[in-house]
Amino acid sequence: MGAHHAATGAAAWVAVAGTVPFTLGWYPVSSSGLLVGSIVCAGAALLPDADHHAGTISRSLPPLSKVVTRGIAAVSGGHRHGTHSLLAIPLATALAFAIGLVGLESETFGRIAIGAGLVSVLLVAYALKGFHLTREGSWRLAWFLAVTISVAVTLFSSSRWDWLPVCVGLGVAVHIVGDMLTKGGVPLLWPWEPRPPAWWNEIPVLNDIWQRGGRMGLPILGRTGSIREWALAIPVSLYASYGAVAAVMGMLGR
Ligand SMILES: [Zn+2]
Repeated sequence: MGAHHAATGAAAWVAVAGTVPFTLGWYPVSSSGLLVGSIVCAGAALLPDADHHAGTISRSLPPLSKVVTRGIAAVSGGHRHGTHSLLAIPLATALAFAIGLVGLESETFGRIAIGAGLVSVLLVAYALKGFHLTREGSWRLAWFLAVTISVAVTLFSSSRWDWLPVCVGLGVAVHIVGDMLTKGGVPLLWPWEPRPPAWWNEIPVLNDIWQRGGRMGLPILGRTGSIREWALAIPVSLYASYGAVAAVMGMLGR
């Protein structure tokens, strides 16, 4: 479910980039980087599903989100293909890095990170949509919030955008893991999608891990939207909220 993907993205960023208690601090960032990054990572955790032109994500920030969706679908071979593979993680990271190189020098603000700002606008809009904070008809609000948050970071925050590629890659990775944990599986080795031999399909459990159509999964959460999925989503959301509060306290200097 979209909101659950978004929550796991935010929680993953808190865990990896946080330096407060109960976080890993593998990729430490400033407090503002932690806060904005958790929103951007929530959006990035929806990015793999932006391969579906009818999906809610494609309608999150019209017309930009539609264009991005069509582009992604064309390159990745349609829904739940290339964007749900191991290859998608380094590709998304590299793409975010390359776009992040686009910038403009200004006297007042120093370097203005246009590329990173644009990526952020899109991903913040995804996150808002994922969390149901913007609705179908409210594209003006989506643009306003996404641009405001991104411009604020670009111009005024002490936080720089160096973390953006890491954040995007992490979001994509947790989405793929999330889909693997529910039924359906993902084409992990795309563009290679090997199918198991016929006898394999008869073996319970194994035929969930390597599925008839060539997809792979570890469906311990059962169907999408199951009780087990909710049971995981609630503590994950609480953890992400904890990270956001810790980040705000850090920004206020406690
Ligand atoms: Zn997906």
